[in-house]
Amino acid sequence: MKLKRITALLLGCSMLCGCTADAVQANTLPAAAYISSEEETTTAPVLTTSDTTEGITAQAMTSATTTVTAETTTEAVTTTTEITTTAETTTTATETTAVTTEKTIATRPQRPVVYKNTIEILGPNVVYTGESFDFGYKISHRNAERASVLWQCEGDAGSLDKDGNFTAEKKGTVKLKISDISNGLTDTLTVHVVDSPEDIDFVCEVSGIPIANKTYPVPKDYDPGLLSETYNAFLELKQAAYEEGLEINFMSGFRSYGEQTEVYAGWYEEYADEADRVSARPGHSEHQLGLAIDVNSIEFTFADTPEGLWLAENCWKYGFIIRYKEGTEHITGYMYEPWHIRYLGNELAEEVHFSGLTLEEYLGIDSWYRIEEYVFETEETGE
Ligand SMILES: [Zn+2]
Repeated sequence: MKLKRITALLLGCSMLCGCTADAVQANTLPAAAYISSEEETTTAPVLTTSDTTEGITAQAMTSATTTVTAETTTEAVTTTTEITTTAETTTTATETTAVTTEKTIATRPQRPVVYKNTIEILGPNVVYTGESFDFGYKISHRNAERASVLWQCEGDAGSLDKDGNFTAEKKGTVKLKISDISNGLTDTLTVHVVDSPEDIDFVCEVSGIPIANKTYPVPKDYDPGLLSETYNAFLELKQAAYEEGLEINFMSGFRSYGEQTEVYAGWYEEYADEADRVSARPGHSEHQLGLAIDVNSIEFTFADTPEGLWLAENCWKYGFIIRYKEGTEHITGYMYEPWHIRYLGNELAEEVHFSGLTLEEYLGIDSWYRIEEYVFETEETGE
């Protein structure tokens, strides 16, 4: 539960406005807890900065209070953040032979501090019957630290406690509502309570982000193709790599339910139950969202090629993340896939990349099949 809350907080500080100084609170945790949580859960990159997050917040708050009448207060904050990593095999495009052990990889772009005067519920739009989800929230307001919030739940498909923990009781929908009485802000979220993945005929979202994993399926008839934002971002990425003498090739993008059925069946034929470690069952592939691309080669060795190294280090700049990172199968549900990139948009991809977390951890969700065994469909109903 604690991890869930912390990751929801991380999400909150970044996803919707990308504002470093947004005060984020979940339940009874003060803003300070959010700051330390971020430091604790940031594992891969080590942040060394002269202006701490706390410092930025303080500065932003000061500037905000001097502009009492402003609806939205903007203050440019100059920060220099050096990200250092101790990745074992970090190299650049031109270093084809030497492997360095320590390297500065990036400087995060500077961001203005913006208060939007909003409150937003963080969490999924679907919860399975009998399960609970600890919803969080994010506030962007100059008086966020003094917020006094009230959770409410309309509908009888589940119940919500005063801290935003929702327990799904029976199939149906509920409307969660959060109000920050002191600042006059509210937000609502419709949550579907479902008995099984088969009840899900809508795109699952977590805090507004479309999600497909073992927990959250994609509707069978969802067929958007590869989304143009995904493809356009990929072209930019490809071009940037090309300018460094590297070749990133598009291998696989959108897959329909039917295509994923074939892909999974192929893996299943070869690996039986172990196929679930490397391939998604139909209805659960991120490729079905039109937001994922496989590049170059589906071999683990791709990770250590100049292209693989470049991709891991730079894809966030074009709005992508390496979705299934090394050593995270117990979280994402899938083995390491250095070739599979997921489009999130620039701000969120940057936040997730620098958090060092998987997308599941970042959003505070899990990834496991609610139906234990996959039953292959017979062809008797084929057209
Ligand atoms: Zn893939």
